[in-house]
Formats: sequence, structure tokens, C-alpha cells
Amino acid sequence: MHYLDHAATTPLRPEALAAMREQWEQVGNPSSLHTAGRRARSVVEESREQIAAIVGVKPADVVFTSGGTEADNLALKGIARASGKKRILISAVEHHAVLDPADALIEEGFTVERIGVDHLARVDLDELEWLIDADVALVAVMYANNEVGTLQPVDEVARVCARHGVAVHTDAVQALGQVEMDLTGVDSVALSAHKVGGPVGVGVLILDRAMQVSPLTHGGGQERDIRSGTVDAAGVAGFAAALAAPKPDLVPLRDQLIAAVFEAVPDAVLNGDPDQRLPNNAHFSFPGCPGDALLMLLDAAGIAVSTGSACTAGIPQPSHVLLAMGADDSLASSSLRFSLGWNSTAEDVAALRLALPPAVERARRAGGIR
Ligand code: PLP
Repeated sequence: MHYLDHAATTPLRPEALAAMREQWEQVGNPSSLHTAGRRARSVVEESREQIAAIVGVKPADVVFTSGGTEADNLALKGIARASGKKRILISAVEHHAVLDPADALIEEGFTVERIGVDHLARVDLDELEWLIDADVALVAVMYANNEVGTLQPVDEVARVCARHGVAVHTDAVQALGQVEMDLTGVDSVALSAHKVGGPVGVGVLILDRAMQVSPLTHGGGQERDIRSGTVDAAGVAGFAAALAAPKPDLVPLRDQLIAAVFEAVPDAVLNGDPDQRLPNNAHFSFPGCPGDALLMLLDAAGIAVSTGSACTAGIPQPSHVLLAMGADDSLASSSLRFSLGWNSTAEDVAALRLALPPAVERARRAGGIR
């Protein structure tokens, strides 16, 4: 199989597996006071320090969670509820892990407004300036879009928010390990282990200690009493090991992939920002070609790709990201995301180059075009 869906999840890195195996063979709850517990605790704290050093934040700001979704939920609901304010601003192209908790807050009397994006999916800073005031509890703008790969001007968003004394959250699940992040002025950041070769079910919320936040879970008081529940020592060790593992520069391979797609399908349309994009993402629309049909045809040829975020794939709806970028329904339903990772090779790209023309031809026939 040629796996071109690393944005959905990545294969586990051997370094992460080794770190986890070592922990699975040991016993000890990080909250226990005996030697076994203290050993597990030191694994958690060393992992916290390692992750903090790589991301460039203070270890004390790292809160372990069960993944990116929980980190986003904790930030959105926790910060909004503790703020005493009732307005939230989020970009129109957020992942459902941000969109849906924001929607859930409407039931509690919050007003949620979406900040528009341009045709490259870049958030409209003028609109942010226009919408923001000191009554806003939180602004959420993702670091990199999970579908089209566009990098957002999070530093500029943070500067606008600082002027108004408003907290900023960024979902950096797709950016982690791909780009050098500037998190100056950002109050909370969601990360996930399984997008960087770590285990599924482990994440981090980086949360400035000064931020007031209402916990979502109540119990043993772990993680600064913000996130009760036993920390998975093996999981966080796997996350730290995956992050610390050497990263290939994916830009040349991504550019090779983009060139191969244009060669195979000359009328394909590259979506997202051509320059300010993730090094591992290439997202295309194939006019007249139902995305789902094309995905299945490529799968039959041994190539795994996605029609968008894994969480919405399978639901035959045009992507909210492409619609927010101004694409019409048909273009938004005819797109595919190719995403590379730590073990991607030129052979994967060559296989895609060969498989695409007949797959597009068949999908177009199935879609009633040509
Ligand atoms: N945020 C973004 C941008 C994502 O791409 C994903 C996963 O697809 C998530 C959040 C959810 O992360 P997790 O799968 O760790 O819950």
C-alpha cells in the first residue's frame, strides 16, 4: 500500500514503539507515592519536559489529554466558561474539534461568530479587527488547516487579541512537527501524538498557567486539577519519543507530488495557499470527478488518500473549508487530500502518478462527465 493519508493518522515511529514498550513492561501509577509510582511520575515529567522543549514552551504549561479533540474541547469550553464573557470568535475553517464545542456553547447562552477566510483559506484579519472587542471570551484560529494545508497568520491574530485583552487558542494538531511554530502571545495550543508518529489517544493542551479554565473532568486532580484522570505514562513517553525523532524535509517530495498530479491531470486545481502551506500537504480538486469515487478507485490501486478530514470523510457533504474559501458545491465535492509523513517515499508519488489518470477517467464517467 502507498499511504498518502498522514494527516489522518501516521504510522507509529519505531522510536515511539520502543519507548512505549519499555513502559508497558513496568507498573506504577504516576500519582502513587511508592517507588513504582515515582518511577512512572518521572517518565511523565521527563516526557513533559521533552515535549515542552521541542515546542518551545514551559513544561509547567503542558497539560496531557486524551488527544487533540479533548485539548480543543478543554480550551474552548474551559476558557469560555471561566471567562465570565459570552462571545467567541472562531475561524470558518476550523476542525470539528473546535467547531462543535463552540456550537455546544451556544446552548449555554454563548454567541459564536465565524471569521471568514480568503480563497486561499487565510483568515481575514480585517474581519477579526471588526468583530473583536473586550467582551470576547476567546478567539480560536488553527495554526494549519487540516484539509487544504494553509498556514494561518497566528502571530498576527495574537497581536490583535493582545490589543483587546482577549485570549487566543490555536489548534496546532497538523502543524506540530511540520513547521517551526511561533506561539508568542498564544494562550492555549492543542496538539495530538498520532499525527507525528506517536500513539492514538494522547494529546496535549499547552495552557498558560495564568489562564483561568474550568475543567471538563473532575476526579483525582491530576494535571493541575485541570484534567483529572491517570496520565498514560507509556503514551506520553511515546509522544515525546516520536517528536524527538529526526524529521525528513518533506517540501521536495510534496512539490514532486504536486508536479506529478498536474502532469497526470492537467485540469486539476491546487487548493490552499501555494506558498504558506504545510510541507506535507497537497490538496486538489478534480473538476467533474466525485471525490468519494476517486478515493475508492485509488484505494483499489493500492493508494490511500482522503477526501478531507478523516472525521468528516464518509459523510457525503461538501467540505465546509472549501465552501468557506468560496468554492462551489461541485468543486468542493470533487477534491482529494494527499498528505505525506516520516516514511513517505518517491515510490509513493510515482505510484500515484501512474494510478491517477485511469482513476480520474473512470470517476468522471461515473459522475456523468465525459
Ligand atoms: N484538530 C485537527 C486540526 C485535526 O486534524 C484533528 C484530527 O484529525 C484533531 C484536531 C483531532 O485530534 P485527535 O484525533 O487527537 O482527537
